[in-house]
Amino acid sequence: TTIIDDDSNNNTTTAPPHVVLVPLMAQGHTIPMLDMARVLAERDVLVSFITTPVNSSRIKPIIARVHESKLPINFIELPFPCAEAGLPLGCENFDLVPTLDLFVNFFHAIRLFAHRLEQSLKDLVPRPTCMINDMSNPWAANVARSLNIRTLIFHGPSCIYIYCSYVFQQHKIYETVTDEFEEIAVPGLADNDDVVGQSFKVCKLHAPGWLNAPGFEKIRDDVLHAAETADGVVMNTFDDVEPMFVEAYKKVVGKDVWTVGPLCLYGKDDDLSARIERGNKAAVDSEKLFCWLDSMEERSVLYVSFGSLTRMNVGQILEIGSGLEASGVPLLWVIKDVEKTPEVEDWLKGFEKRMSLRSFVIKGWAPQAAILSHKAVGGFVSHCGWNSTLEAVSNGVPMITWPQFADQFLNGRLVVELLRIGIDIGVKKPALYYGEDEIPVRKDDVERAVRSLMGSDGEEAEERRIRAREIKEKAIKAMEEGGSSYENITRLVEYIKHEPGKDVQGTEV
Ligand code: UDP
Repeated sequence: TTIIDDDSNNNTTTAPPHVVLVPLMAQGHTIPMLDMARVLAERDVLVSFITTPVNSSRIKPIIARVHESKLPINFIELPFPCAEAGLPLGCENFDLVPTLDLFVNFFHAIRLFAHRLEQSLKDLVPRPTCMINDMSNPWAANVARSLNIRTLIFHGPSCIYIYCSYVFQQHKIYETVTDEFEEIAVPGLADNDDVVGQSFKVCKLHAPGWLNAPGFEKIRDDVLHAAETADGVVMNTFDDVEPMFVEAYKKVVGKDVWTVGPLCLYGKDDDLSARIERGNKAAVDSEKLFCWLDSMEERSVLYVSFGSLTRMNVGQILEIGSGLEASGVPLLWVIKDVEKTPEVEDWLKGFEKRMSLRSFVIKGWAPQAAILSHKAVGGFVSHCGWNSTLEAVSNGVPMITWPQFADQFLNGRLVVELLRIGIDIGVKKPALYYGEDEIPVRKDDVERAVRSLMGSDGEEAEERRIRAREIKEKAIKAMEEGGSSYENITRLVEYIKHEPGKDVQGTEV
């Protein structure tokens, strides 16, 4: 792609700053990266967004809109090396990896991208001035280096997790702790006593660090090295949602940190059809869904969804359904394609019949961000993926926290203990620690948590709602002109524009 602004008055040709975005091919990472592409393009930065055939087909309507609106985003589609990495054909996103043992292969596949990326970037005009690589794409830093381009890291997870993992790594806690449940005071949070009444403690199980699992050693070392050597850090968070951790992280990391979120708010004023198309094609008749939501009372509906990767076993799904039914609350429940076993399908038939007046079940991809922004939605049962958490926060929706892995336990604690806008369902261990058919949460736990969250007369529930509305206002403010994230985006754009000592073609001046 060549985009050149011809400044005929000065008789000179100036190229716009050009940034390459390399997302991790996982929904929780590509969706916010795509939001960022639009944010930067709106600020006159030319963006090249790296994608693959399957991933780009999922966001076709968004690509079409970008082209229509003439936003300067160039989608570069590179073939994904499934066969070379021993993955099934078309397995181009984490949510398509069929079995756990193939995750290593997936990481191998994305590493094979390096050569293809380098080839495609070499001759790009104008020359990229900067690359923003997902933290989990450390190989991309080598490409940037070989092309003499500055490189920034994009953190998909929350800062509470990034910071805790970072200091645990620095203090060699991962090497010394033998009891994964041992609560360790997080170093460097000097002023946190006011916030939680005591020092903030975390166990290794809930701050597992990056890819700290057997088989991932090389990838983990590469990730840490790339983060260490990056020129700066971009984070999808905002200062008011986790101030203690953002501040502490900025202090220790020793480079520029730009908090630019919540990126999900970027498209909040798009029309509904655009907001529905986020990340993938919705597996539902959207008109029917939003008519149903329109017909429900304000804040009466509970939305239940566990992100793009978590898979529940049959027993757990039935237990959730029974708890939801017993709670008496209207609900919108998302069940993934991979969870739709014949037993689940069969059970759902009866459930949907009994619950026809107060339930809507989506089987497959849900238009989540649009759902959470609907006024009928008053609660969210969530696995606490960082994007889901930010989407709830940005819409003032209180949560029932049911973390599964990675940053989700700490996100849950942020929601329940620090923001105080949620109820913990009570899971103590990551999903992998349970047997395949184990059922960590029972019907009664679900019913109890739902009743307290949605309770219309409970004082606590009302206070939670008030706090959720307050943090929503802060999230919106952060993204508006003058807000912390808005101003950080301005600084980030300045950084991208001004490559010290070089002109836009990368020539030393
Ligand atoms: N998402 C969605 N529909 C679905 C499932 C997920 O729109 O049916 C979106 C969700 O809104 C969020 C992202 O996918 O933006 C999931 O990211 P998150 O960090 O919450 O969890 P992950 O999927 O990475 O576990």
